[in-house]
Amino acid sequence: MLRFAPSPTGDMHIGNLRVALFNYIVSKQRKEDLLVRIEDTDKERNIEGKDQEILEILGLFGIEYSQVIYQSQNHRFHSAMALQLLHDKKAFSCFCSPQWLEKKREESKENKIAYRYDNACENLPAELVIDNMNPFTIRIKKPDETIVIQDYIKGKVSFEPDEVDSFIIMRQEKTPTYNFACAVDDMLGDISLVIRGEDHMSNTPKQILIRNSLGYSKNIEYAHLPIILNDEGKKMSKRDDASSVKWLLEEGYLPSAISNYLILIGNKPPKEIFDIKEAVEWFRLENISKSPARFDIDKLKFINREHLKNLDSKELSRYVGFADTEIGELAKVYLEEAGTTKELRAKIQAIFAQKAIPQEFEEQAKVMAGTIKNAPFFEEYEGFKNYIMKESGLKGKNFFKPLRLLLTGAEHGPDVAEIYKYLKNYIGEIIK
Ligand code: GLU
Repeated sequence: MLRFAPSPTGDMHIGNLRVALFNYIVSKQRKEDLLVRIEDTDKERNIEGKDQEILEILGLFGIEYSQVIYQSQNHRFHSAMALQLLHDKKAFSCFCSPQWLEKKREESKENKIAYRYDNACENLPAELVIDNMNPFTIRIKKPDETIVIQDYIKGKVSFEPDEVDSFIIMRQEKTPTYNFACAVDDMLGDISLVIRGEDHMSNTPKQILIRNSLGYSKNIEYAHLPIILNDEGKKMSKRDDASSVKWLLEEGYLPSAISNYLILIGNKPPKEIFDIKEAVEWFRLENISKSPARFDIDKLKFINREHLKNLDSKELSRYVGFADTEIGELAKVYLEEAGTTKELRAKIQAIFAQKAIPQEFEEQAKVMAGTIKNAPFFEEYEGFKNYIMKESGLKGKNFFKPLRLLLTGAEHGPDVAEIYKYLKNYIGEIIK
């Protein structure tokens, strides 16, 4: 079983989508199921409705999963496992107050040493624990030996016991901390491979310690994906619009193109344009670069255009807000200058909109519009052009400029002779 474990705390980030895509691809390759675990234990940061939004995005991207679970529903298991650890003396009650711990942390900072828990409560005599009415947390005992992780992307990574430390697994109010909930849930889910962002690398030895201490012997494999950088070489954050999947979709990037791009970066694909099904055939976690991938919106646009070209005309037409095949074909011609469905829609809408004619051609356009309105239907552009030219008496620039403006709503663009075939049935709607 693989898992995708988003937190419902904000818009889905492209880094998260990349994690979801990789999990999906590998689950298909291994013929294992993928579960979605909504990590909703941080009540204060949860945003209502974000869980549904995440599931909708997964649906839109064709990422199939076998079940959805909410981490908060596993609390009774988290508590039971914490009790077991206490019972087995793999964990201990810690009565140090948050203020005291904060003071110790400050001291370490001043002395420029890494803060470690001082183990003050690890060996408290049983009577002191039992009679103690003060609030307490539960800490897991730090490991005895180095924890070594063989990561698919990062290679071998080791953590010394002191780096892992005796950390809190249950807070004073007896809610599980993130690492504890996550480690237990991965056990409960029978997870075989965890693919996630490298920002979780330092959590991994903690989660391994938790499972080892619980006597769980199944080896869980890991792949930590490098972060995605913006054009300034900084981590893509909420401040970068393009980091939000929702924003990219609203801007008119196709899910298939976004997936293609996110699978492509930092990878060694056999070709540049592909769909997820193809990626399932050749994708290998080991081929993902260790170093961060750089997000390049121009490259994404190039890929988007290629995916738009591959759509059939009817589908493309729907993407730009129409239902007719001809408009889809017309949109294809406009793909030379537009790279997103939003840009395409603007071009097509301009054709049907009320036209703003520059003063220089206002008079000619008026005459021409009158002529066009009264013209018979012409199958071919040549016939149409000759008729309008003759009837309006306009020629040269005074003919071609207003004609383009009236028919397309733009001063520049594809050859009118080329697009007439798609426009001829709509002349009445175009010239109002
Ligand atoms: N909920 C974590 C996140 O959204 C993912 C944790 C994990 O995959 O283990 O970053």
